[in-house]
Amino acid sequence: MKPLKRETDILPDNDAALKQVAARYAVSITPEVREAIRTPGDPVARQYVPDVAELVVLPEDRADPIGDDVYSPVPGIVHRHPDRVLLMPVNVCAVYCRFCFRREKVGPGRKVLTPAELARALDYIRADKNIWEVILTGGDPLILSPRKLGALLRELESIDHVQVLRLHTRIPVADPRRVTKALCGALKTRKALYVAIHVNHAQEIIPAAEEAFARLRAADCVLLSQSVLLKNVNDSVKALEELFRRLVALRVKPYYLHHPDLARGTGHFRLSLTEGQNLVKKLRTRLSGLGLPAYVLDIPGGHGKVPVGPAHLHLRGEDVFVEDMKGALHAYPPPPDKERRS
Ligand SMILES: *Cc1c(COP(=O)(O)O)cnc(C)c1O
Ligand code: SF4
Repeated sequence: MKPLKRETDILPDNDAALKQVAARYAVSITPEVREAIRTPGDPVARQYVPDVAELVVLPEDRADPIGDDVYSPVPGIVHRHPDRVLLMPVNVCAVYCRFCFRREKVGPGRKVLTPAELARALDYIRADKNIWEVILTGGDPLILSPRKLGALLRELESIDHVQVLRLHTRIPVADPRRVTKALCGALKTRKALYVAIHVNHAQEIIPAAEEAFARLRAADCVLLSQSVLLKNVNDSVKALEELFRRLVALRVKPYYLHHPDLARGTGHFRLSLTEGQNLVKKLRTRLSGLGLPAYVLDIPGGHGKVPVGPAHLHLRGEDVFVEDMKGALHAYPPPPDKERRS
């Protein structure tokens, strides 16, 4: 199928409602994303092309859906778990996902932390010896120039108690040309560096993205993926299985599958926890552990991420039953083994 070429194929500029959407939430689509879109409204288009449904705000929607603000001791840091912090050096992205949980905070008008704020964030990390892992997120940290990102990583790797660095990014899939040799050079560090690539559908992984993965791997990055479960994008066993198999074959370990957050104007992407659990339960019968990410929910209000299933344990009063892949229940512990007892 022919890729869509012109901006107007994707975003009709005569649509007043869509203009209203774009005024509220940032819009950006790269040539690579356009190449990955095959038909309007397909699983890639739905992730990036503004939709009038975004103007609908449901009662459960929240401006800060996962409660980052509650745990931010200094600008640019979120510190919820003792051993790890999020560091957000930048609030811009290469593309703007329509379901983004930080959509109220990201956009082209939002600038990087000021040098003074960044220095203060680094001081915070230096001062707390419990911080073992620093997770760069945003925004998209790979939007930084190789020089800036390199300088930041040099600062972080020089902190003795910081043993592990992690970077959450959409750029290898959505703007793979940014993953240059110079950027990968900046990523070379003597500390372990994990790169969690945000990708939600196999159709997004165009050849240029595969090449970006290879360049990151050549820079000694350990590649993980994180995905968001999204209605009418990847909410089928077929779509998820294809995505996770593709990732594992490309040497990317699926790490998290996020239940969609309650970000404002994203109700049309949401499905119920039960629907999600049923999908993941079916996936479990088809994929090895290598291909199965943890299905997690970020509890609204800043209470953190928890795995949400699927549940294989059934409690009946005092008795415990374990459900196998065919749906049959087995008592646990099982009844005494007569042969062994004699
Ligand atoms: C998700 C998250 C982390 C990272 O958690 P992992 O489960 O280690 O991936 C750390 N801090 C905050 C505030 C988070 O939301
Ligand atoms: S790249 Fe990440 S932070 Fe940026 S819009 Fe998409 S989901 Fe949000």
